[in-house]
Amino acid sequence: MKRRALAALLAALLLLCGCAEKPVTAQSFALDTVLTVNLLSGGTAEDAEAALARADACEALLSAHREGSEIDALNKSGEGTVPLSDLTRFVLEEALYIGRESGGALDITLLAVSDLWDYKSEDPQVPSEEALREALVHKGMERIELTAEGACAHGAQIDLGAVAKGAVGDEMVKTLQTRGVRSALLDLGGSIFTLGDKPDGTPWTVAIDDPAGEGFVGTLALRGSWSVSTSSGAQRYFEKDGVRYHHILDPGTGWPAQSGLISATVIAPSGLVADGLSTALFVAGEEEGERILSRFPEAAAVLVRQDGSVRTLGDVDFTPAD
Ligand code: ADP
Ligand code: MG
Repeated sequence: MKRRALAALLAALLLLCGCAEKPVTAQSFALDTVLTVNLLSGGTAEDAEAALARADACEALLSAHREGSEIDALNKSGEGTVPLSDLTRFVLEEALYIGRESGGALDITLLAVSDLWDYKSEDPQVPSEEALREALVHKGMERIELTAEGACAHGAQIDLGAVAKGAVGDEMVKTLQTRGVRSALLDLGGSIFTLGDKPDGTPWTVAIDDPAGEGFVGTLALRGSWSVSTSSGAQRYFEKDGVRYHHILDPGTGWPAQSGLISATVIAPSGLVADGLSTALFVAGEEEGERILSRFPEAAAVLVRQDGSVRTLGDVDFTPAD
Protein backbone atom coordinates (compact mmCIF):
# COMPACT_ATOMS: atom_id res chain seq x y z
CA MET A 1 0.00 0.00 0.00
CA LYS A 2 2.74 2.39 1.09
CA ARG A 3 4.74 1.67 -2.02
CA ARG A 4 1.72 2.40 -4.22
CA ALA A 5 1.13 5.73 -2.43
CA LEU A 6 4.78 6.65 -2.93
CA ALA A 7 4.54 5.80 -6.64
CA ALA A 8 1.42 7.96 -6.97
CA LEU A 9 3.16 10.83 -5.19
CA LEU A 10 6.19 10.51 -7.46
CA ALA A 11 3.96 10.46 -10.54
CA ALA A 12 2.14 13.58 -9.32
CA LEU A 13 5.46 15.32 -8.68
CA LEU A 14 6.72 14.39 -12.11
CA LEU A 15 3.55 15.77 -13.64
CA LEU A 16 3.96 18.98 -11.67
CA CYS A 17 7.57 19.31 -12.82
CA GLY A 18 6.43 18.73 -16.38
CA CYS A 19 3.89 21.54 -16.09
CA ALA A 20 6.11 23.89 -14.13
CA GLU A 21 8.03 24.93 -17.23
CA LYS A 22 6.03 27.69 -18.89
CA PRO A 23 6.23 27.79 -22.68
CA VAL A 24 7.88 30.89 -24.15
CA THR A 25 6.52 32.42 -27.36
CA ALA A 26 8.01 35.18 -29.50
CA GLN A 27 7.15 36.51 -32.95
CA SER A 28 8.61 38.77 -35.60
CA PHE A 29 8.09 39.64 -39.25
CA ALA A 30 10.85 38.55 -41.63
CA LEU A 31 11.23 36.70 -44.94
CA ASP A 32 7.94 38.30 -45.97
CA THR A 33 6.06 36.33 -43.34
CA VAL A 34 5.37 35.96 -39.63
CA LEU A 35 7.96 33.92 -37.71
CA THR A 36 6.79 32.26 -34.49
CA VAL A 37 9.11 30.61 -31.98
CA ASN A 38 7.57 28.41 -29.26
CA LEU A 39 9.98 27.10 -26.63
CA LEU A 40 8.52 24.26 -24.60
CA SER A 41 11.51 23.14 -22.58
CA GLY A 42 14.89 24.58 -21.64
CA GLY A 43 14.36 28.03 -23.15
CA THR A 44 13.91 31.65 -22.08
CA ALA A 45 12.58 34.77 -23.83
CA GLU A 46 16.21 35.67 -24.56
CA ASP A 47 16.72 32.39 -26.40
CA ALA A 48 13.63 33.00 -28.53
CA GLU A 49 14.81 36.54 -29.33
CA ALA A 50 18.25 35.17 -30.27
CA ALA A 51 16.61 32.80 -32.78
CA LEU A 52 14.59 35.67 -34.31
CA ALA A 53 17.73 37.84 -34.48
CA ARG A 54 19.51 35.00 -36.29
CA ALA A 55 16.68 34.97 -38.85
CA ASP A 56 17.19 38.70 -39.51
CA ALA A 57 20.92 38.21 -39.92
CA CYS A 58 20.38 35.34 -42.40
CA GLU A 59 17.83 37.32 -44.40
CA ALA A 60 20.31 40.21 -44.67
CA LEU A 61 22.73 37.81 -46.40
CA LEU A 62 20.34 35.75 -48.55
CA SER A 63 17.59 38.07 -49.79
CA ALA A 64 17.82 39.00 -53.46
CA HIS A 65 15.65 42.04 -52.77
CA ARG A 66 17.80 43.38 -49.95
CA GLU A 67 20.30 46.02 -51.11
CA GLY A 68 23.76 44.94 -49.92
CA SER A 69 22.96 41.25 -49.36
CA GLU A 70 25.47 38.74 -50.71
CA ILE A 71 22.91 37.54 -53.25
CA ASP A 72 22.20 41.11 -54.35
CA ALA A 73 25.96 41.61 -54.75
CA LEU A 74 26.27 38.40 -56.79
CA ASN A 75 23.36 39.41 -59.03
CA LYS A 76 25.04 42.75 -59.76
CA SER A 77 28.58 41.43 -60.15
CA GLY A 78 28.49 40.26 -63.79
CA GLU A 79 31.80 38.46 -64.36
CA GLY A 80 33.21 39.52 -60.98
CA THR A 81 33.79 37.31 -57.94
CA VAL A 82 31.94 38.07 -54.70
CA PRO A 83 33.27 36.82 -51.34
CA LEU A 84 30.70 34.69 -49.51
CA SER A 85 29.83 33.92 -45.90
CA ASP A 86 29.81 30.22 -44.95
CA LEU A 87 26.00 30.34 -44.80
CA THR A 88 25.45 31.75 -48.29
CA ARG A 89 27.99 29.33 -49.76
CA PHE A 90 26.28 26.39 -48.05
CA VAL A 91 22.78 27.47 -49.16
CA LEU A 92 23.95 27.94 -52.76
CA GLU A 93 25.69 24.55 -52.82
CA GLU A 94 22.69 22.73 -51.38
CA ALA A 95 20.14 24.52 -53.57
CA LEU A 96 22.20 23.83 -56.69
CA TYR A 97 22.43 20.17 -55.67
CA ILE A 98 18.63 19.92 -55.25
CA GLY A 99 18.29 21.81 -58.53
CA ARG A 100 20.41 19.21 -60.34
CA GLU A 101 18.79 16.21 -58.63
CA SER A 102 15.34 17.57 -59.53
CA GLY A 103 16.26 17.92 -63.19
CA GLY A 104 15.88 21.69 -62.91
CA ALA A 105 12.37 21.69 -61.36
CA LEU A 106 13.94 23.76 -58.58
CA ASP A 107 15.91 26.53 -60.26
CA ILE A 108 17.35 29.31 -58.09
CA THR A 109 18.15 31.52 -61.11
CA LEU A 110 14.59 32.66 -61.87
CA LEU A 111 14.79 36.12 -60.27
CA ALA A 112 14.18 38.04 -63.51
CA VAL A 113 11.12 35.85 -64.15
CA SER A 114 9.69 35.95 -60.61
CA ASP A 115 10.12 39.76 -60.58
CA LEU A 116 7.79 39.93 -63.61
CA TRP A 117 5.05 38.19 -61.60
CA ASP A 118 4.53 41.02 -59.15
CA TYR A 119 2.13 39.42 -56.67
CA LYS A 120 2.56 42.22 -54.15
CA SER A 121 1.43 44.99 -56.48
CA GLU A 122 -2.06 46.52 -56.06
CA ASP A 123 -2.82 45.68 -59.65
CA PRO A 124 -0.70 42.70 -60.69
CA GLN A 125 -0.33 42.06 -64.40
CA VAL A 126 0.20 38.89 -66.41
CA PRO A 127 3.58 39.32 -68.15
CA SER A 128 3.78 39.04 -71.93
CA GLU A 129 5.33 35.99 -73.59
CA GLU A 130 8.06 38.26 -74.90
CA ALA A 131 8.89 39.65 -71.46
CA LEU A 132 9.03 36.11 -70.06
CA ARG A 133 11.31 34.99 -72.87
CA GLU A 134 13.67 37.89 -72.21
CA ALA A 135 13.68 37.21 -68.47
CA LEU A 136 14.48 33.53 -69.03
CA VAL A 137 17.76 34.62 -70.65
CA HIS A 138 19.05 35.31 -67.12
CA LYS A 139 18.38 31.73 -66.06
CA GLY A 140 21.15 29.13 -65.74
CA MET A 141 22.20 27.33 -62.58
CA GLU A 142 25.26 25.99 -64.41
CA ARG A 143 26.57 29.55 -64.66
CA ILE A 144 27.08 29.85 -60.91
CA GLU A 145 30.71 29.14 -60.15
CA LEU A 146 31.83 28.60 -56.57
CA THR A 147 35.55 29.10 -55.98
CA ALA A 148 37.86 29.32 -52.97
CA GLU A 149 37.53 33.13 -53.13
CA GLY A 150 33.74 33.24 -53.33
CA ALA A 151 31.33 32.96 -56.25
CA CYS A 152 30.77 34.32 -59.72
CA ALA A 153 27.23 34.18 -61.17
CA HIS A 154 28.30 35.00 -64.75
CA GLY A 155 25.12 37.01 -65.20
CA ALA A 156 22.65 34.50 -63.74
CA GLN A 157 20.04 36.24 -61.55
CA ILE A 158 19.64 34.39 -58.27
CA ASP A 159 16.45 34.14 -56.17
CA LEU A 160 16.64 31.93 -53.07
CA GLY A 161 12.93 32.39 -52.30
CA ALA A 162 12.21 28.68 -52.69
CA VAL A 163 14.75 27.59 -50.05
CA ALA A 164 15.14 30.64 -47.81
CA LYS A 165 12.56 29.79 -45.15
CA GLY A 166 13.99 26.29 -44.84
CA ALA A 167 17.58 27.44 -44.67
CA VAL A 168 16.81 30.19 -42.15
CA GLY A 169 14.72 27.86 -39.98
CA ASP A 170 17.67 25.46 -39.81
CA GLU A 171 19.85 28.31 -38.53
CA MET A 172 17.24 29.31 -35.93
CA VAL A 173 17.04 25.70 -34.70
CA LYS A 174 20.85 25.56 -34.45
CA THR A 175 20.86 28.78 -32.44
CA LEU A 176 18.32 27.33 -30.01
CA GLN A 177 20.19 24.02 -29.70
CA THR A 178 23.46 25.81 -28.95
CA ARG A 179 21.70 27.73 -26.18
CA GLY A 180 20.47 24.50 -24.57
CA VAL A 181 16.83 24.54 -25.68
CA ARG A 182 15.49 20.97 -25.51
CA SER A 183 12.02 21.25 -27.03
CA ALA A 184 10.68 23.83 -29.48
CA LEU A 185 8.25 24.37 -32.34
CA LEU A 186 8.92 27.01 -34.99
CA ASP A 187 6.47 28.26 -37.59
CA LEU A 188 7.90 30.31 -40.45
CA GLY A 189 4.79 31.24 -42.38
CA GLY A 190 3.69 27.62 -42.66
CA SER A 191 7.15 26.02 -42.75
CA ILE A 192 7.27 24.07 -39.50
CA PHE A 193 10.32 23.03 -37.48
CA THR A 194 10.28 20.70 -34.49
CA LEU A 195 13.24 20.55 -32.11
CA GLY A 196 13.57 17.56 -29.80
CA ASP A 197 10.54 15.84 -28.33
CA LYS A 198 7.42 17.35 -26.81
CA PRO A 199 7.84 17.55 -23.02
CA ASP A 200 4.74 15.39 -22.45
CA GLY A 201 6.19 12.59 -24.56
CA THR A 202 3.45 12.61 -27.20
CA PRO A 203 4.41 13.10 -30.86
CA TRP A 204 4.27 16.51 -32.53
CA THR A 205 1.11 16.89 -34.61
CA VAL A 206 1.49 18.97 -37.76
CA ALA A 207 -1.59 19.69 -39.89
CA ILE A 208 -1.34 19.97 -43.66
CA ASP A 209 -3.62 22.68 -45.05
CA ASP A 210 -6.22 21.77 -47.63
CA PRO A 211 -5.04 23.77 -50.67
CA ALA A 212 -8.58 23.77 -52.07
CA GLY A 213 -10.43 24.92 -48.96
CA GLU A 214 -10.45 26.11 -45.39
CA GLY A 215 -9.64 22.96 -43.44
CA PHE A 216 -6.78 20.51 -43.68
CA VAL A 217 -6.15 17.31 -45.59
CA GLY A 218 -4.68 15.49 -42.61
CA THR A 219 -2.07 15.46 -39.89
CA LEU A 220 1.48 14.23 -39.52
CA ALA A 221 2.80 12.68 -36.31
CA LEU A 222 6.50 13.34 -35.78
CA ARG A 223 9.05 12.52 -33.10
CA GLY A 224 12.30 14.43 -32.72
CA SER A 225 13.68 17.21 -34.90
CA TRP A 226 12.11 17.68 -38.34
CA SER A 227 11.15 20.28 -40.87
CA VAL A 228 7.84 20.25 -42.76
CA SER A 229 7.47 22.47 -45.81
CA THR A 230 4.45 22.87 -48.08
CA SER A 231 4.44 24.41 -51.55
CA SER A 232 1.03 25.13 -52.96
CA GLY A 233 -0.68 27.31 -55.50
CA ALA A 234 -2.96 28.59 -52.75
CA GLN A 235 -0.24 30.40 -50.79
CA ARG A 236 0.45 33.38 -53.01
CA TYR A 237 -1.50 34.21 -56.13
CA PHE A 238 -3.56 36.79 -57.98
CA GLU A 239 -6.59 36.45 -60.21
CA LYS A 240 -7.02 38.11 -63.58
CA ASP A 241 -9.96 37.58 -65.92
CA GLY A 242 -11.06 34.56 -63.91
CA VAL A 243 -7.67 32.83 -64.07
CA ARG A 244 -5.58 32.21 -60.97
CA TYR A 245 -1.82 32.79 -61.29
CA HIS A 246 0.28 31.42 -58.43
CA HIS A 247 3.89 32.07 -57.45
CA ILE A 248 5.59 28.73 -58.17
CA LEU A 249 6.97 28.82 -61.66
CA ASP A 250 7.79 26.29 -64.33
CA PRO A 251 11.47 27.06 -65.03
CA GLY A 252 11.02 25.93 -68.63
CA THR A 253 8.34 28.48 -69.54
CA GLY A 254 8.26 31.07 -66.76
CA TRP A 255 4.50 30.45 -66.30
CA PRO A 256 2.97 29.16 -63.04
CA ALA A 257 3.66 25.41 -62.82
CA GLN A 258 0.76 23.10 -63.74
CA SER A 259 1.79 19.59 -62.79
CA GLY A 260 -1.49 18.10 -61.61
CA LEU A 261 -0.58 18.67 -57.95
CA ILE A 262 -2.23 21.40 -55.87
CA SER A 263 0.20 20.99 -53.01
CA ALA A 264 3.40 19.18 -52.14
CA THR A 265 4.56 18.77 -48.55
CA VAL A 266 8.03 17.45 -47.74
CA ILE A 267 9.21 16.22 -44.36
CA ALA A 268 13.01 16.10 -43.88
CA PRO A 269 15.61 16.53 -41.15
CA SER A 270 16.94 19.58 -43.04
CA GLY A 271 14.64 22.56 -43.58
CA LEU A 272 16.60 23.57 -46.66
CA VAL A 273 15.98 20.16 -48.22
CA ALA A 274 12.29 20.12 -47.20
CA ASP A 275 11.72 23.62 -48.62
CA GLY A 276 13.67 23.06 -51.85
CA LEU A 277 12.12 19.66 -52.47
CA SER A 278 8.55 20.82 -51.79
CA THR A 279 8.94 23.44 -54.51
CA ALA A 280 10.59 20.89 -56.84
CA LEU A 281 7.86 18.27 -56.31
CA PHE A 282 5.09 20.82 -56.83
CA VAL A 283 6.70 21.78 -60.16
CA ALA A 284 7.61 18.27 -61.28
CA GLY A 285 4.33 16.51 -60.45
CA GLU A 286 3.60 13.09 -58.99
CA GLU A 287 5.48 10.69 -61.24
CA GLU A 288 8.67 12.71 -61.64
CA GLY A 289 8.32 13.81 -58.00
CA GLU A 290 8.53 10.22 -56.84
CA ARG A 291 11.78 9.77 -58.77
CA ILE A 292 13.22 12.99 -57.33
CA LEU A 293 12.27 12.06 -53.77
CA SER A 294 13.97 8.66 -54.11
CA ARG A 295 17.28 10.59 -54.39
CA PHE A 296 16.67 11.89 -50.84
CA PRO A 297 16.09 8.78 -48.69
CA GLU A 298 15.86 10.84 -45.49
CA ALA A 299 12.82 12.73 -46.83
CA ALA A 300 9.13 11.83 -47.19
CA ALA A 301 6.25 13.63 -48.90
CA VAL A 302 2.49 14.13 -48.93
CA LEU A 303 1.12 15.14 -52.32
CA VAL A 304 -2.38 16.51 -52.96
CA ARG A 305 -3.69 15.98 -56.47
CA GLN A 306 -6.01 18.30 -58.37
CA ASP A 307 -9.01 16.09 -57.51
CA GLY A 308 -8.20 16.40 -53.80
CA SER A 309 -6.89 12.86 -53.38
CA VAL A 310 -3.73 12.39 -51.33
CA ARG A 311 -0.62 10.31 -52.01
CA THR A 312 2.13 9.75 -49.46
CA LEU A 313 5.68 8.90 -50.48
CA GLY A 314 8.31 7.43 -48.17
CA ASP A 315 8.18 6.73 -44.47
CA VAL A 316 5.60 9.08 -42.97
CA ASP A 317 2.97 8.81 -40.22
CA PHE A 318 0.03 10.58 -41.91
CA THR A 319 -3.62 10.50 -40.80
CA PRO A 320 -6.13 11.82 -43.33
CA ALA A 321 -8.81 14.20 -42.04
CA ASP A 322 -12.32 12.67 -42.06
P1 ADP B 1 6.81 29.78 -50.27
O1 ADP B 1 8.02 30.66 -50.23
O2 ADP B 1 5.52 30.50 -50.49
O3 ADP B 1 6.75 28.83 -49.14
P2 ADP B 1 8.19 28.13 -52.19
O4 ADP B 1 9.14 27.62 -51.19
O5 ADP B 1 7.63 27.13 -53.12
O6 ADP B 1 6.96 28.88 -51.56
O7 ADP B 1 8.98 29.25 -53.01
C1 ADP B 1 8.38 30.03 -53.97
C2 ADP B 1 9.30 31.19 -54.34
O8 ADP B 1 10.48 30.68 -54.98
C3 ADP B 1 8.66 32.12 -55.35
O9 ADP B 1 8.07 33.22 -54.72
C4 ADP B 1 9.83 32.54 -56.23
O10 ADP B 1 10.55 33.60 -55.61
C5 ADP B 1 10.72 31.33 -56.22
N1 ADP B 1 10.39 30.32 -57.26
C6 ADP B 1 9.25 30.15 -57.98
N2 ADP B 1 9.32 29.07 -58.77
C7 ADP B 1 10.54 28.52 -58.54
C8 ADP B 1 11.22 27.36 -59.04
N3 ADP B 1 10.67 26.54 -59.94
N4 ADP B 1 12.47 27.11 -58.57
C9 ADP B 1 13.05 27.92 -57.67
N5 ADP B 1 12.48 29.04 -57.18
C10 ADP B 1 11.23 29.31 -57.58
MG1 MG C 1 10.19 25.79 -51.21
